[in-house]
Amino acid sequence: MQSIKQKIRDIPDFPKPGIVFKDITPLVKDPVACRRAIQLLIQPFLDKDITAVAGMEARGFIFGALAAWELGIPFIPLRKPGKLPYDVQSICYDLEYGSAQLEIHIDALDSTDRVLLIDDLLATGGTAKASCELIELLGASVVACGFVIELDFLQGREKLQGYEVHSLLHY
Ligand code: 5GP
Repeated sequence: MQSIKQKIRDIPDFPKPGIVFKDITPLVKDPVACRRAIQLLIQPFLDKDITAVAGMEARGFIFGALAAWELGIPFIPLRKPGKLPYDVQSICYDLEYGSAQLEIHIDALDSTDRVLLIDDLLATGGTAKASCELIELLGASVVACGFVIELDFLQGREKLQGYEVHSLLHY
């Protein structure tokens, strides 16, 4: 796990002064460390009859798509508004300042689906909570959530009560 943690770079004052951004690009630049991270990320969910992996724009696409590929199951993108070409289901959610929106194609999932939600990082949990709700609006079940990084001090996990949550790295 240490070899994966070494590939996460701290960027001070990005995107705003006072924020230390966890940069995952060194991890995805290293195919050995990245493959190991994906294997560890999916490991807790191998016996859970997952039928699809969903990932949020943008870094959730990287880890989610790789996890889906590794599991041999579909990847479902959750996108920012106006990006998906077909009919969508949308959800709005609150951020620290303002609000955001995510969308999913209405035929992406159905009530037979058991979904693993993957993102690069769990901070306050607002994005992940909204993503779970969006998936459930299509009638699918969220079986678990997996993150490469969890910022424990922001207590995002508390917003995900009722869902199984696993993170590889904790800060
Ligand atoms: P939350 O909704 O949990 O507060 O924020 C999580 C979302 O913001 C994730 O989709 C994640 O990609 C992004 N995010 C917030 N802070 C960071 C950070 O320091 N590093 C990275 N890589 N993503 C972040």
